Amino acid sequence: MILMNDFKAEPPELREAMLNATRRVLESGWYVLGNEVESFEKQWALACGVQRAVGVGNGMDAIEIVLRALNIGPGDEVITTSMTAFATVLAILRAGATPVLADIEPDTALLSLGSAARCISLRTKAVVLVHLYGQVRDMNAWASFCSQHGIALVEDCAQAHLAAWNGKVAGSFGAAGAYSFYPTKNLGALGDAGMVVTRNEALAQRACRLRNYGQSVRYHHPELGLNSRLDEIHAAMLAERLKWLPAFTERRCQIAKAYLSGIQNPAIEQLAAPEEEAAHVYHLFAITCEQREALQTHLQQHHVQSFIHYPIPVHHQEPCRTIQRDPMGLGASERHAATCLSLPCHPQMSDDDVAQVVAAVNGFRGG
Ligand SMILES: *Cc1c(COP(=O)(O)O)cnc(C)c1O
Repeated sequence: MILMNDFKAEPPELREAMLNATRRVLESGWYVLGNEVESFEKQWALACGVQRAVGVGNGMDAIEIVLRALNIGPGDEVITTSMTAFATVLAILRAGATPVLADIEPDTALLSLGSAARCISLRTKAVVLVHLYGQVRDMNAWASFCSQHGIALVEDCAQAHLAAWNGKVAGSFGAAGAYSFYPTKNLGALGDAGMVVTRNEALAQRACRLRNYGQSVRYHHPELGLNSRLDEIHAAMLAERLKWLPAFTERRCQIAKAYLSGIQNPAIEQLAAPEEEAAHVYHLFAITCEQREALQTHLQQHHVQSFIHYPIPVHHQEPCRTIQRDPMGLGASERHAATCLSLPCHPQMSDDDVAQVVAAVNGFRGG
């Protein structure tokens, strides 16, 4: 079976380096928010081209912490997409703010600017822009949209590790970026981890406070924060895995290229190619197909695993049925949720695996 992720197939050198990192942390006798975290924060800030990075417990907390650090909360509206991990919208709700869902562009599945414009109100304070599947796109348009309306641009970079558009890296376009290092992400820990990246020193300091109970100096709590600290063991792992990220990303892009040119089947539609090569890091390679269930069964029979990102748009989730949205509806999100399918696209795939996926997809006959 060609799997969606195959961690056990990672290079032995990497696994060895990770074991050594574990030993380093164990022998240091210091396990939460220490030198390993500080060192990895510096490396990640540098990689993103920003001044500051603040390690937190996970990607969802990173979004909540950014919003709270921007003083966005009760009474404030935050525009985002319905085609995302539930965590994006949950983070907005956890910050006490009101999510307003805009629709997507059908050919990229990314947030639609036109739809976002229809969601603007006097209470709008931010857009949480999700770089879905790993793609950064149209950033000048988003930056000017946000500055025009006097609202903050917050990037959900959980799927877009170091995707670069016009020489700038995901997380460096707006007020702040939120990264997740969940194991399956392009850069993943061996558990939960996340990071806030920003050019804004005051925002970074506030994030440092918020991740640690709202503590300013030891035992002083000027505000109510979270417990969302980054562990030393995850930071040490991430630093080792970061060394492999460029090669792993390149492999993802090679696989995506092979799919883009190799998959030719009238029953299947591809999404639009990225504006420039570096702008898509292919966390996921998604296609759409009207007969998705039959395609998924066919792939399974040909030993190709596939997942759906995402089968249920956020506004169809039980607690979100009355959530605010574009007055013209979220039709493109609903259609995408009904037809999208993600194919295996991870760095451990061989050329044979890639060819096998292409052959299996092209061998599908829609009814
Ligand atoms: C994974 C993910 C998150 C949440 O990250 P966690 O670390 O799992 O909390 C948020 N947004 C998107 C788009 C994601 O893919």
